[in-house]
Amino acid sequence: MSETQATAPRTVKCLIIGSGPAGYTSAIYTSRANLNPLLIEGPQPGGQLTTTTDVENFPGYPDGVTGPQLMEDMRKQAERFGAEFMTGLVTDADLSARPFRITVNSRTEILAESLIIATGASAKYLGIDSEEKYRGTGVSACATCDGFFYRGRTVAVVGGGDTACEEALYLSTLASKVYLIVRKDYLRASKVMQQRVTGNPKIEILYNTNTIDLFGDEFVEGAHLIEFMGTDKERIYEIAIDGFFLAIGHRPNTEVFAKYLELDESGYIKVKAPGTETNIQGVFAAGDVADPHYRQAVSAAGMGCRAAIDAERFLIAGNTASALI
Ligand code: NDP
Repeated sequence: MSETQATAPRTVKCLIIGSGPAGYTSAIYTSRANLNPLLIEGPQPGGQLTTTTDVENFPGYPDGVTGPQLMEDMRKQAERFGAEFMTGLVTDADLSARPFRITVNSRTEILAESLIIATGASAKYLGIDSEEKYRGTGVSACATCDGFFYRGRTVAVVGGGDTACEEALYLSTLASKVYLIVRKDYLRASKVMQQRVTGNPKIEILYNTNTIDLFGDEFVEGAHLIEFMGTDKERIYEIAIDGFFLAIGHRPNTEVFAKYLELDESGYIKVKAPGTETNIQGVFAAGDVADPHYRQAVSAAGMGCRAAIDAERFLIAGNTASALI
């Protein structure tokens, strides 16, 4: 058959997009419920956790587990019950009618009677080269995940919003000193968070400051900073740090669905709490893509479970548009 010749798209009862804790947990539940789920693993199978080293706060692993191992275990568990996996990038989604029409890699179309979106969120990074170099060896975008490794050390947090303040406060319970690097001359965070941060003796706020780069042999040992950039007061200096935490916001991976789904002002998918259904019947969302608040592997997995149960109930209620499945 030629490449251009059309083939009938495959129809599935439940399509899961995303391969983090939410997606894999949805796959475990929907496969055990005989929904024969197909899960699309994006360009980073396993999601954000594959960029973390040790995970010590996921229940069931008393000695901790690496992020990639945890994801591998979840995937295997879903596979055991018959979940199917496909690697690819969802490039288009037509949610105007059921079955929903999902396009993978601009080529393969899949029709889905129900859809669970678990595409996660990506932490924003500054875009400097050294962030990449020290990812996992001093650079992190999750204090709750990695803060523990900086007990008694000196760390820096970048950002002036609620997340940055929260991360700085959390780190101050572990680290000996926390720099908060803020590019403006004020914090954007809520008043209460500002008060907590400014009143914390372990936190030093560096206003009007940007990061130029990080340095160190194997691990981060310090940062070059620039104060009052572009003014006659401009000053370049360095600080000694062991950890560098980004807290300049997250970007939920929702672009491809934005045409159909109700999103909040930051782009997160709105769900009808306490359930996981979106504004479109039969489309559910789970994990970081729909949760700006907790952003934990365990809370994402919990939401993945709820989305799977919601999808199952939706299909059991007779919401099957196709006779093909
Ligand atoms: P925000 O968008 O609120 O803040 C991002 C911060 O990062 C800002 O201070 C911004 O600076 C700074 N920033 C952005 N890009 C850069 C850059 N390239 N270089 C340096 N600094 C940069 O994101 P948050 O994640 O803090 O919060 C997201 C939402 O979640 C908010 O609505 C927040 O209120 C909410 N939230 C609530 C919490 C709570 O209630 N407990 C906890 C955490 C989040 P600038 O100000 O100059 O733009």
